[in-house]
Amino acid sequence: MTESTLALGTRAIHAGAPDERAAGAVVTPIYQSSTYEYHGESYHDVGYIRLSTTPNHNVLGERIASLEGAEAGLVTGSGMAAISAVLLTTLAAGDHLLTQDVLYGGTNGLFDNALTPLGISRTVIDPQRPDTWADALRPKTKAFYVETLSNPLVQLADLEAVVAFAREHGLVTVIDNTFASPVNFRPAEHGFDLTIESCTKYMNGHNDIVAGSVVGSAGRVRAIKMTLDHLGGSLDPHACFLLERGLKTLPVRVRHQNDSAARIAARLEAHPEVATVQHPSLASHPQHERAGRLLDGFGGMMAFSLRGGVAAAEGLLAETRLVAHAPSLGGVDTLAVRPHAAVHSGLSEEQRAHAGIDPGLIRFSVGLEDPEDLIADLEQALAGR
Ligand code: PLP
Repeated sequence: MTESTLALGTRAIHAGAPDERAAGAVVTPIYQSSTYEYHGESYHDVGYIRLSTTPNHNVLGERIASLEGAEAGLVTGSGMAAISAVLLTTLAAGDHLLTQDVLYGGTNGLFDNALTPLGISRTVIDPQRPDTWADALRPKTKAFYVETLSNPLVQLADLEAVVAFAREHGLVTVIDNTFASPVNFRPAEHGFDLTIESCTKYMNGHNDIVAGSVVGSAGRVRAIKMTLDHLGGSLDPHACFLLERGLKTLPVRVRHQNDSAARIAARLEAHPEVATVQHPSLASHPQHERAGRLLDGFGGMMAFSLRGGVAAAEGLLAETRLVAHAPSLGGVDTLAVRPHAAVHSGLSEEQRAHAGIDPGLIRFSVGLEDPEDLIADLEQALAGR
């Protein structure tokens, strides 16, 4: 059932479910069978977990496509499995692509350590300066890769210009929408060809699995599935079950996180110990107007720095009681990390400086705890400064 007239919250629960329930079960059971009876299908359609063809995979592919407003969807073994399958399908040796300057560290690592040696090159562009992009084009430029909100400073690229530029120059547009989730932004509705999610984050939302997804046209998703089948990046059925369960509450969770994050960001910005706060809900955010126009919600991710620098940041991370000092994001538990020392430690000092990642910056992923309790926790930790 995939009626697009149903609201997002309804589709999160019902889209893609088979018309007839298996043995009457309300919830999709876990199909823990690696292989299925053969009925003469071609290789990529054979029932086999690695080929992402089990009932658990099929429900998720359709459900995520419905949530993203796209024709077809595919679930993958991790966000990186989705990113690598997309890039290895879209680009071949000798090809070139444009990427936003600040990307998730794992994606940068994939470019530098796996794609560059294969002969795929890229030019890093400033996502706020469309006037500079044409200079970066080469005869074999094939794709334009961006993220909806950058990590960790939650900057919003000029996404409308990305789509217009790519159309003008015949480039495939790929966007990692992990920080927004389809609740806050559905890139397919704005003309992006391929949307990737690390479902490890908001989509599943409970910090208990890794998973990924890709949506786009049926033809593109089919080609990416064939690459994924060869790479072996499928999702295990038990993780499929957990992801399907997590997706049912996605809209409720993300809307709550949007509200909590905006409240916390406003309170932090007014706090005397806090030097800077980056959250798209704030009037001080450089793309506040664009975020208000393009996004359905400002998201649960923010970054802030303290007047006391690194020592104060380390103190805060040690003193909070409800906030876990851990990487990752988008789950029910609030997590905080100092990107300079953790998630962005693989970048050079120069790259971190360019990305605006000061040593004292804290990335904060708001969970589902009551926002007033989180504010009180932050305030007691700041009081010790
Ligand atoms: N994209 C973004 C924006 C991320 O933050 C992450 C992980 O942190 C990934 C992709 C990779 O996802 P996964 O860890 O599920 O492979």
